[in-house]
Amino acid sequence: MLVLPEMKLKPLLIALLFSFTALAQTPGIGTGPAHLILPRHCATVPPDSAWEIWFSQKIAEYKSQQNFPSSTTSNFMIPVIVHVIHGGEALATYPNVSAAQIYSQLKVLNEDYGGRGLNSATIASTGFSLVGVSNSNITFCLAQIDPLGNPLSEPGIDRVNYVSKGWANPAALGSMSGFQILMEGTIKPATIWNPQLFFNIWISDVNSSLFTLGYATFPSGSTLNGISTGLGGSTNDGIWIWSKSFGTVGTLHSVYNKGRSAVHETGHWLGLRHIGGDSGNALGDCAASDFCDDTPPQKGGANGGTNGQNFGAPVYPLHVNICASVYGDMFMNFMDYTDDAVMAMFTPDQSIRMQTAMTNGTFRSLLTASSATQCTVNYLGLPPSKPDEFSLRIIPNPSSGKIILELANPPQGGFKLILSNTMGQVLLNSELLPDTNKRFFLDLENYPEGIYSLTVFSTGNQTVRRLIISR
Ligand SMILES: [Zn+2]
Repeated sequence: MLVLPEMKLKPLLIALLFSFTALAQTPGIGTGPAHLILPRHCATVPPDSAWEIWFSQKIAEYKSQQNFPSSTTSNFMIPVIVHVIHGGEALATYPNVSAAQIYSQLKVLNEDYGGRGLNSATIASTGFSLVGVSNSNITFCLAQIDPLGNPLSEPGIDRVNYVSKGWANPAALGSMSGFQILMEGTIKPATIWNPQLFFNIWISDVNSSLFTLGYATFPSGSTLNGISTGLGGSTNDGIWIWSKSFGTVGTLHSVYNKGRSAVHETGHWLGLRHIGGDSGNALGDCAASDFCDDTPPQKGGANGGTNGQNFGAPVYPLHVNICASVYGDMFMNFMDYTDDAVMAMFTPDQSIRMQTAMTNGTFRSLLTASSATQCTVNYLGLPPSKPDEFSLRIIPNPSSGKIILELANPPQGGFKLILSNTMGQVLLNSELLPDTNKRFFLDLENYPEGIYSLTVFSTGNQTVRRLIISR
């Protein structure tokens, strides 16, 4: 058996699934009493170098298409379904967590991916204010409709009782390999919703001896040759998060209680590496790369191993000039291993990776045009108070380009709409006014045949539908 330092072993865990039957535990080392438990453990398997070569090519294409850096990035709306894996507990009893806990996580996702992180003010006093807290222009919304077309009683939530399914309790499995076999081999394939329409998030309890906060699948691509480790497929694409580190209200771990585990894992799902690199090989401190030009090489914490991770709650500046960075480690990046309260930023280069993933990922590129989900959100991550209040039909669809938009409760005046292509590029951004019969006509006959995404805005809400022009 290979003998690896602990922090090298962890990223390789799933790849070496059948080589290890038990995971040795690391004594917690951190800055406060809370770390007498264990530091953050992300079990995401990084993809191989061939994937990074493919992805780098797509980043270059993205930049050239966008006339980078002069133009703005595209807006993406990602419909989310959260599969709550529970054992028949009463509603809102852990791990059958409350809807409020799930919606609190959506709020954090939208704040952090919108560059509005609760801690972004902390960046202002650091050298990294020059890099800036990036807005990825990615928004997360709650699915309103299940795969059979039925309205969800709790938007964005799918509750699954493992007892009634005859599955083992995920938290009863004391080895990472056993947990992974159950999750990847049984629970995910049986519960996943079409990953071309939904961003699948699974949450469950996990055995305390593992102390794993989450893991993600990286984006796969149709033009990617070969199969790398760690990429999402039709039966497993998405992220898993420990229920006690999901959201900001409910039964939560005392340190991982600000929703940053899901922010971190969603970053992997969108192509991001750990800020300190994912080498998992013989590279030493400072040498591993996250393939972003605006993040510094990292030394990492005393317990951070050789890939530059930091744990706990470091104080800025940290490791100045040790890795040729005058500002030291960017430990406040969402892709480090620090405490939830410390994490506060993505960088512009990280946003470009995420935009590239949304444009090129097999299970990412159509997510914004997802008519099946009837995705709606307000920017607090909450479902609209009356989900049907702003329901929208496109008549006919497909059409030759002349359509009527029918709203359940049409606004008094007009409303704003945005037409985008499947790349997320905005083609039309205008106000639509009713005619004398109070109908909303939209003439798109000048647009070529194809699949479009139509976003309609009302007070605090927006609704996205897929629109097809065919002649
Ligand atoms: Zn990670």
